[in-house]
Amino acid sequence: MRRFRALPALALATLTLTACPVNPATGERQLMLISEAQEIRMGQEGAQQVEALLGLYDDPELEEYVNQIGLELAATSEKPNLPWSFKIIDDVIVNAFALPGGPIYVTRGILAHFNSEAELAGVLGHEIGHVTARHSAEQISRAQAAQLGIGVGYIFLPEIAAYGDVINVSLGLLFLKFGRDDERQSDDLGFRYLRRSGYDPTEMVDVFDMLGRVSSAAGGSGLPAWLSTHPDPGERRERMQQRLAEVGGAAGGEVGRSRYLQMIDGMIYGENPRNGFFRGSTFLHPDLEFRIDFPAEWTTQNMARQVVAVSPNEDALIQLTLAAEASAAEAADTFLAQSGIQLQRISRAPVNGLPARAAYFAATASDGTALRGLAVFIEYGELVYKILGYTLADRWRTYAGTFQGSLGSFDRLTDSAALSAQPARLAIVRTDRTMTLAQFAERYPSTVEIEELELINGVEADDTIDAGTLVKRVVGGTIPKE
Ligand SMILES: [Zn+2]
Repeated sequence: MRRFRALPALALATLTLTACPVNPATGERQLMLISEAQEIRMGQEGAQQVEALLGLYDDPELEEYVNQIGLELAATSEKPNLPWSFKIIDDVIVNAFALPGGPIYVTRGILAHFNSEAELAGVLGHEIGHVTARHSAEQISRAQAAQLGIGVGYIFLPEIAAYGDVINVSLGLLFLKFGRDDERQSDDLGFRYLRRSGYDPTEMVDVFDMLGRVSSAAGGSGLPAWLSTHPDPGERRERMQQRLAEVGGAAGGEVGRSRYLQMIDGMIYGENPRNGFFRGSTFLHPDLEFRIDFPAEWTTQNMARQVVAVSPNEDALIQLTLAAEASAAEAADTFLAQSGIQLQRISRAPVNGLPARAAYFAATASDGTALRGLAVFIEYGELVYKILGYTLADRWRTYAGTFQGSLGSFDRLTDSAALSAQPARLAIVRTDRTMTLAQFAERYPSTVEIEELELINGVEADDTIDAGTLVKRVVGGTIPKE
């Protein structure tokens, strides 16, 4: 796998070739040390890692729908020939983001909050604007010019290639915060693409209303929410209304409310416990039928391919992933064969009756930091689990017992309530008579509170809903948290 680390050298080589070209989308000159080909490559590599790390929502029909709308919008942009793709991340948080050169993602969390195709198109158009205006590439160029790294501070073993790369590259790209001017520019570009595609641009104002209502605490995952990276929905709403006034007020156009709501009928809503869930600090995975205790008070995060727990002081980390090898012994050998890792002691004792290898090791991180840790490899079902706990070498005594307790708690999941956990889903109902949302909630009960129904439907509890209107309710969902 090609590493991103080669990029700065490449970019510097082109320093003299590309300086400040005029961007066709914005009409402005911008500092650009990255060629379009490099930008596309960064985006494609980032996309693979983002998808592996965060996971896509498995609904081909819905994904095709989102992709078609995105492609139609992108075709009206100044860069119709970029390798555009529009996919759905399986995450509850309200979020959307673009990687350089074309890959764009919306979460199922944000899809649950839209009430029309034009709202979806508005957010996709905005993200397309970030790509056509080359905001990521420009920021990376600025950082390179100033010789700053793009990445987040974390301690990592040299061996955690996949994870380290994702953090350093893709999530680095994700965590790029665009400035106010970039956001305004993307709003304007999104507005342009929305109109060119025949959508009603007033729907973009509804999106800002929705974002204004959704609190940044909308999701439990560590992805940056659209809100936190896109401040001031109120100000942006006003600006959108100005744009609308400039083009003659309510310009009309396609809204696609029914079509959109019918597409998201049945979509998983909220946390999907089949992908694993936490009960306190215990992680339970119904589909893979295992459980493991993480240390209490640690910050935990469940992503598509791994679970991570970080100590309160952020000086120790536990990471659970799947090993690629066929046995615990092979997985341990592969781990220990890496340069920079020295085996101190290995145990062949089973973990809760499951075949296992436990390796105590010392390691040197790429920046020279001395680390110590415990790696446990466990065979269970058809899979080999790899659970890694490590800390700074001089903190080993503090955490050794914690690692042993947590890593040694991996066991079969036998709790029938946990095994049968199911996600809630959106159900779209056509009202048979005029009623308020509160009356709707009584007539068609939901498994969420009325406040949440207000939020996802974009109406207040005492607002009147006409007969024959499509309304969202939330049904089912059993996650045994107690
Ligand atoms: Zn943005």
